[in-house]
Amino acid sequence: LENNSTVKTGCAGVDKILNGGFKKGILTEIYGESGTGKTQIALQTAVCCGFSGCVYICTEDVFPVKRFNQMSQNMWCDKEDKVCKKNIFIEHLTESHELVSCIRVRLPKLLKLNNVSAVIIDSVAAPFRCENTNYVQRAEELKELATNLLYIAQEYNLAVICINQVTACFDGSDDVLPTLGLVWSNMITCRLKITKTFQECRELTIAFAPHLPSGLVAKFVITKKGIED
Ligand code: ADP
Repeated sequence: LENNSTVKTGCAGVDKILNGGFKKGILTEIYGESGTGKTQIALQTAVCCGFSGCVYICTEDVFPVKRFNQMSQNMWCDKEDKVCKKNIFIEHLTESHELVSCIRVRLPKLLKLNNVSAVIIDSVAAPFRCENTNYVQRAEELKELATNLLYIAQEYNLAVICINQVTACFDGSDDVLPTLGLVWSNMITCRLKITKTFQECRELTIAFAPHLPSGLVAKFVITKKGIED
């Protein structure tokens, strides 16, 4: 399994099908219905980064500090809450223009001064979801966001992980598709889908990734400790 070129989720089965973890230098999208475990995977990845650094941008709920500490204690055997002592940079933004400018202006400044191996956005969909949308402006903002994220992924050799929501697939099936449209999806190099099978059992499927065999599935469960095989 690759090491320096990936960022682990800390769940062996998931890391295995991802050939070590989230690939650095590209944009990875995780999509799935609400409650499938997208945030849990993102959080555990942030925990896994430890001192190698992570930027976590929240656009829906505030950063789940308690859950982060719970996972962190499990992984690093912390004796106390150490969220502030790890190299994690947390931001909360709700407006699309704030997110775009954060990635374009503030993030590069932070990355020049700090070692960071992953940038996580939970979620990209929320700031672009609002009603009364000007679709041309929205597409331009999404393009700028994706372009700048890809630049950062390559320039600073880090994994960019974007959580996305889903929309119904209008083909009569129960399947779902990631939201945000073609301008966005064309910039994504790796797309992962999470589904809930029963109770706390989940499946992560490689929906699209040129560097991985597509269709591979990893099963995992969400427990008090985090995400596990
Ligand atoms: P999404 O981001 O896809 O909406 P989440 O990542 O927030 O979903 O996952 C929520 C699910 O994670 C909950 O339904 C619950 O099953 C599980 N979960 C969250 N915290 C814990 C915990 N401390 N112990 C066990 N399961 C948990």
